[in-house]
Amino acid sequence: MKNIAIIGAGMTGLSLAYNLQENNITIFDKSWRPGGRVSTRKNENDLFDHGAHYLSTNHSVNQLNEVIIRYNLGQLIEIDFATDYLKNKKTRKKIIIGRNGMNFIPKSIFDNLKLRSYFNSKIIKISKNSNGIFSLFSEKEEFKNFDFVLICIPYLQSKELSKDLIDFTKIVSEPSYDPIHTVMLSYKDTNNINIRAGLNLHEDISFFMNQNIKFNELTNDCWVLNMSSEYTKNNIDIDKTTLEKYAQSIFEKTFDIKNKISFIKSHRWLYAQTKVSYNTISKKNWINSKDNKIFLSGDWVLGKSLSDAWNAGEKLSHYIKILSV
Ligand SMILES: Cc1cc2nc3c(=O)[nH]c(=O)nc-3n(C[C@H](O)[C@H](O)[C@H](O)COP(=O)(O)OP(=O)(O)OC[C@H]3O[C@@H](n4cnc5c(N)ncnc54)[C@H](O)[C@@H]3O)c2cc1C
Repeated sequence: MKNIAIIGAGMTGLSLAYNLQENNITIFDKSWRPGGRVSTRKNENDLFDHGAHYLSTNHSVNQLNEVIIRYNLGQLIEIDFATDYLKNKKTRKKIIIGRNGMNFIPKSIFDNLKLRSYFNSKIIKISKNSNGIFSLFSEKEEFKNFDFVLICIPYLQSKELSKDLIDFTKIVSEPSYDPIHTVMLSYKDTNNINIRAGLNLHEDISFFMNQNIKFNELTNDCWVLNMSSEYTKNNIDIDKTTLEKYAQSIFEKTFDIKNKISFIKSHRWLYAQTKVSYNTISKKNWINSKDNKIFLSGDWVLGKSLSDAWNAGEKLSHYIKILSV
């Protein structure tokens, strides 16, 4: 049994924790809750999945499906989906959603694993002692005695955290991300929009999804809009009110909405979705230190979805198992 520190309680970190649970695991996250970009946000009576929206039914990560079934985390639904709203292309689409919003998936995996955990703990430094054992540091605390450190956070942040312990000079080409501004909005009265979700609502809004199909208890008409990555890049520091008004005006114009809005808020995801994965560049499934004790993983290794994140963690766990016998 090894002492393993996992930094980041998103889907990648949780996949590693699930697959290495026979070890002594401690998981750290700078946020107050597990899930990372699989995020469900509450405002009074409104609920919004403003990170990952759904799990695709045609992903090939069998273990993630097994975990969802085993812990009863998800539901398969079929919705009217615009494959391209601007070109009026629509279909019936099957998707997997969390039983009570998307964050239900990572939160329940975390609860079932009963991990030793430190939330609100941003790890800012990792050091190695003369016996090859690691310590982690947050602003306030030192956490000692780890044989392995698995860093499961966005690439640039993991590089910054491990740059004194891993040689990055050989990594000539790096993975990259697209940023996304998301906008959450709700109306007291229903707008009777029959399409539930889709792509390309507008040249600046790449995705939209109704939230009432996810949460039975919602009484307001709740929606999430993803601004396109192009728009987000060009308006990365836009004033929030300006962004929200712009997104609202497009939404209301498109669906001819006359109802008064009751809530609107936006969020900027700087590292939203992988643009070029590490595996595409290098054919490798993780980045490691020379002594094979520190590893970097994340969705960025394989792709841009939460199944890629799970897969990246699962793949790395097989290697750690070999190393720790
Ligand atoms: C707007 C948006 C829409 C998306 N839509 C979909 C979708 O519909 N379907 C889909 O499959 N995927 C979607 N994705 C992508 C999916 O959410 C991600 O691929 C996946 O959640 C990434 O998981 P991860 O564990 O690799 O990273 P993250 O979820 O980013 O987890 C990293 C964790 O590390 C923590 N952390 C960071 N730095 C530190 C530190 N120094 N110390 C401690 N903790 C730290 C963070 O708080 C976070 O919890 C979407 C993402 C976004 C942003």
